[in-house]
Amino acid sequence: MQHFPIFLNLRGRRVVLSGGGECALAKLRLILKSEAEVVVYADAPVTELEDWAQGGKLTLVRRPMNRGDAKGAALFYAANDDPTEDARVAAIADAEGVLVNVVDNLRDSQFITPAIVDRDPVTVAIGTEGAAPVLARAIKADLEARLPVQLGTLARIGKAFRKAADALPMGRKRRDFWRDYYFAEGPRAIEQGEDEVTPALKALLDRHLAADARVGHVDFVGAGPGDPELLTLKARKALDEADVIIHDRLIAPEILELARREAVLVEAGKEGFGPSVSQDDINAMIVAEAQQGHQVVRLKSGDPTVFGRLDEEIDACDAAAISWRVVPGITAASAAVAAVGQSLTKRDRNSSVRLLTGHDMKGFAEHDWKALARPGEVAAIYMGKKTARFVQGRLLMHGADPATPVSVVENASRADQRVLACTLGELEPTLSDAALAGPALILFGLAPRRAELIARDFDRMEQA
Ligand code: SAH
Repeated sequence: MQHFPIFLNLRGRRVVLSGGGECALAKLRLILKSEAEVVVYADAPVTELEDWAQGGKLTLVRRPMNRGDAKGAALFYAANDDPTEDARVAAIADAEGVLVNVVDNLRDSQFITPAIVDRDPVTVAIGTEGAAPVLARAIKADLEARLPVQLGTLARIGKAFRKAADALPMGRKRRDFWRDYYFAEGPRAIEQGEDEVTPALKALLDRHLAADARVGHVDFVGAGPGDPELLTLKARKALDEADVIIHDRLIAPEILELARREAVLVEAGKEGFGPSVSQDDINAMIVAEAQQGHQVVRLKSGDPTVFGRLDEEIDACDAAAISWRVVPGITAASAAVAAVGQSLTKRDRNSSVRLLTGHDMKGFAEHDWKALARPGEVAAIYMGKKTARFVQGRLLMHGADPATPVSVVENASRADQRVLACTLGELEPTLSDAALAGPALILFGLAPRRAELIARDFDRMEQA
């Protein structure tokens, strides 16, 4: 992020602009939305500018901008539509220590003015660092259509009511109140007329004050395989409402980004054989947070019911009489088969599919291996990178065809997804040689449907 977005308080500050043509007008339309004292230097201003000056919207000085004119200003705009003149005035303003914007000249500007969606006091600023003005315009148009026109009014009335709402304890209770206002009570009231909004707010506050202190709750949420777009709407909502998010190390940063800004993020490092917080400590942490009245999201990769130690955590909640709910997610096996263009089950091939963990194969009896070794069987093996050789050996020993296809999908659904395709006979050392760094799922019995689904850097991986 080269340009850091901020909202500048311009009330009573001076903003100086040099230029008197169309280019200046366009910028001024935006600047005049603020409460700044605007001073424009132009020796030949267009009529509209004269009108604005007459109407008291700005101060017009009929001469080119000169040394001393920008001193003490908050911002300076060079908008002459003339590169030589722009460079001259920009140099003056810069020397006077003022932040400079040269209109339509990103390189020589110290700041940029974003595209704005104005629902004052709600303002959305959109910037693309100059990379894609088309995109900024499209996002703006989209938001303009989506944000109700009365949003600004609701926010203004709400702002005046903030002090009264401070009677509610900070945190969850106060947030609930404001959510009810903005998304339910407020829009309803404003339809009856602006005057109805404040009384509705008062009644809403009374109801919230009367409500019992909120008790904690735990949502066990599946975060999916990594692509944030594979989150369910329910998962997104839970992330929006969480006070505390206790997450696995596997969760992609883009997903954690979606958490409510005030939410506390706790990493419960559980990943393969790395250093980890013990399961008992995680259980205790979940319970302790909920007992403090927090809305807890226990965020697990994929689906929480697949190799997620979910039951232990639910038991801990039950033992402490804490309410909970499971929000399912897309498991890695689903993302992995999607990546190779295959189905987990297929008519006349396999009518059942096994989800196995490589982490603990001791419980896997001899007859299970035998069943899995039969032609057409399909298994999705989680956490299997380290035990691939063992699995390969057992299956071959029980008569599996060495030519059985195997696909390994690393980072399924993520931008760095890679597919390794081989046979059971080649699984090791192919897998070890590839030295995959990310989470990987082994699809036993499935080959990628098309060669192009295999990552191009497969060769490089093999040589690595
Ligand atoms: N509950 C999770 C699985 C947790 S076990 C789920 O439903 O997906 C962790 C294992 O899941 C990893 O070792 C890996 O085998 C698999 N895994 C998780 N995310 C993955 C991804 N994006 N791509 C491939 N495998 C993944």
